[in-house]
Amino acid sequence: MGNKKVILDHVEEHDDDTVPSIHLDLWYPDVKGNTRAIVIGLMDVRAADDIRVSYDKERDGWKIEQASTFKWEADDPVCDPDWQEVAFIQAWAREKTECLQCGNLNQPTRKQCEKCNAILEGGKDD
Ligand SMILES: [Zn+2]
Repeated sequence: MGNKKVILDHVEEHDDDTVPSIHLDLWYPDVKGNTRAIVIGLMDVRAADDIRVSYDKERDGWKIEQASTFKWEADDPVCDPDWQEVAFIQAWAREKTECLQCGNLNQPTRKQCEKCNAILEGGKDD
């Protein structure tokens, strides 16, 4: 079992956004026994396969998986949904880059400062 109670105790509802949403965090997913992934499903007139979201520490980003198997034989010893990665999102993909010359915060894709044209040193690792 995971740490569902801790996760659910800290769920926040964002009603003020243009997209009403629920915010929940994985709490220390590497700690033994803690929840390691969140499965998101859709309940609607249309169907969509669930996605499973987990944090990949090695690659520093979010791993998104989908299953391929949804039915098993009654005597199947292991009912493996075959979760496989379908997308990966860098943890800091949208982080703005601060210009060391003028302090301007630039859009993540910029190589030169929007304000003073200085060459930007890159992302968070610099
Ligand atoms: Zn600048």
